[in-house]
Amino acid sequence: MFVSKDLINSLDLGVIVIADDRRISAWNDWIAHKAQVDAAEALGRTLVELFPALEGSQLLAAVERVFTAGLPTIMSHHFHPRVLPLVEVRGRVVEPVEQSVVVRPLLAAEGRGPSCLIQVSDLTSAVKRDRHLRKVTAYNRTLFEMSADALVTVDGDGRMLDTNPSFETLTGRSGAGLRGQAFCDVFLSVEEARAFVRQAFADRLQHDATLSLRHAEGGLRHVLLNAAVIPGAQSDDPCLYISARDISHRIEAQRQLARKSDELERSNAELSAFAYVASHDLRQPLRMISSYLGLIERRLGAGLSEDLKEYFAFAVDGARRMDRLILDLLDYSRVGHDDGRLEAVDVAEVVNDSLLNLKLAIEESQAELVVGALPVIEADRLELLRLFQNLIGNALKYRSLERLPRIEVGYRGDGGEHCFFVRDNGIGIAADQSDRAFGIFQRLVPAEQYEGTGIGLAICKKIVEHRGGRIWVESLPGRGSTFFFTVPEGAAAP
Ligand code: ADP
Repeated sequence: MFVSKDLINSLDLGVIVIADDRRISAWNDWIAHKAQVDAAEALGRTLVELFPALEGSQLLAAVERVFTAGLPTIMSHHFHPRVLPLVEVRGRVVEPVEQSVVVRPLLAAEGRGPSCLIQVSDLTSAVKRDRHLRKVTAYNRTLFEMSADALVTVDGDGRMLDTNPSFETLTGRSGAGLRGQAFCDVFLSVEEARAFVRQAFADRLQHDATLSLRHAEGGLRHVLLNAAVIPGAQSDDPCLYISARDISHRIEAQRQLARKSDELERSNAELSAFAYVASHDLRQPLRMISSYLGLIERRLGAGLSEDLKEYFAFAVDGARRMDRLILDLLDYSRVGHDDGRLEAVDVAEVVNDSLLNLKLAIEESQAELVVGALPVIEADRLELLRLFQNLIGNALKYRSLERLPRIEVGYRGDGGEHCFFVRDNGIGIAADQSDRAFGIFQRLVPAEQYEGTGIGLAICKKIVEHRGGRIWVESLPGRGSTFFFTVPEGAAAP
């Protein structure tokens, strides 16, 4: 043998030598193992005798070229996959071997004709790695391409390297037209965009910057930009990975909302101004009606029949009630206008004051009053006084004829808000009427039985809601009602 057997067996590649009679003259352990044919069986036979499938193969043609023209052939795995039927056996797993094969002439040893060397390398792990890398790359590319957010990579000079379809839609420009162009030029304020890119490269991360960009067909798009520095794909230089989320709809909705709320505020202000002026001006002619009715009545004097006296009384009473309604309306329209001072208010004192104001009604009705522990809160003192006076006043007014009134005023602190209540054992309110009770001039009882105009609870509701709280009633008809109202903790409180 012209090469040491030990030497070729120690190689980490397959070695086959074909003599000029086309018979195998060397077959190393590597190839014996992977071809699953040992040297004893292979030596002296042709390749086709061992592997009939090789008949007419490119490998045999390459071997012939060596003998006839002395020309080598390199068979890379890309163009000549699995030249020889080689396998790797690991336990029960049998895997084909990806190969790169070199076929070349071997110098003739003394006394022998020329030979052909077939050298086989195992590329299986490289091919596997390559396949895996391709899969990962394709997966990442799909994520990039499919993202609903516009994505772009930008190099250190601020030029766009790569863009996804969403970025093209956002800008109205093609990917080819964008690549190599300055990223910042897409934006309405190039300076702002430059500052963003500069900062992102400096800090390696940049979050939620809102910028506006120009669409190729005109119009602006508002975007939320996020960026991170990542290694570049083509060179070693880092690049900027930027995502741009189109928030034009959100911004437009916010603007519309702000516009609507401005309009609402304006129309509310107009409405209260109207209510104020109207009620103010209405009182004047009303006063004239009442005073002239009085004059006429006096002029007619004793000659007035009982019927006419009664009619006059109705007319005067009507005018008086109308005046009361107008005054109430005026009162209602004023709530929330003169923004009172917020101060630390001892609610126990406020309740006490309202009880003093209602002293007569309390004594008359022999009501029992129970006042629980009440806190000191940030509020407008007068507004609180009106609230308690209205609610306790109602509790006295709508008492049951079957029992003495018992009224309880209490408090419970509920996460983030103060909640007060006024409970009575009066006539109660039917569940389906409880919302109506808070409407303007809404009364749930016959006017001749209970005095009132139906504005008290409407005023309470306006005060409470103006300060960001809620007011509601829980009641059992015939048993009693509990009115609750809340005051948010902090500066918004009444
Ligand atoms: P008014 O007392 O002048 O009628 P309010 O706005 O204070 O006006 O109350 C509206 C209606 O709600 C009242 O007419 C009455 O029917 C009902 N109401 C209010 N408070 C109570 C109460 N504590 N118990 C039963 N009904 C009540």
